[in-house]
Amino acid sequence: MHELGIAGEILDIALSEAERHRAKTVSEIRLRVGVLRAIEPEHLSFLFGHLAHGTPADGANLSIEEVPVHVDCAACGASEARSFVWECPRCKGSSIEVTGGDSLEIVSIDIQV
Ligand SMILES: [Zn+2]
Repeated sequence: MHELGIAGEILDIALSEAERHRAKTVSEIRLRVGVLRAIEPEHLSFLFGHLAHGTPADGANLSIEEVPVHVDCAACGASEARSFVWECPRCKGSSIEVTGGDSLEIVSIDIQV
């Protein structure tokens, strides 16, 4: 249920942004979420809609872009994966470094004044 906390944080940020610009409504919020966060986009949208009920962000569309894990492989270079990996998804080499995939970032918030 960690999506509930995240939905609440996103709502707080969107509402303070709306207030700062004296906006009447928040129409869309775009997010980039790393796949390692294991967030179910539909679940997050549902919870957000529930929390936003009766606020200026009521009915706002949550647009969620999933960001893959970045794998740096000593043998074949760089590739991407959909989850945490212990070997290179391309050449199966074990000399790899896994980075990214755990970000949670609000890209933009669309408001209507
Ligand atoms: Zn490789």
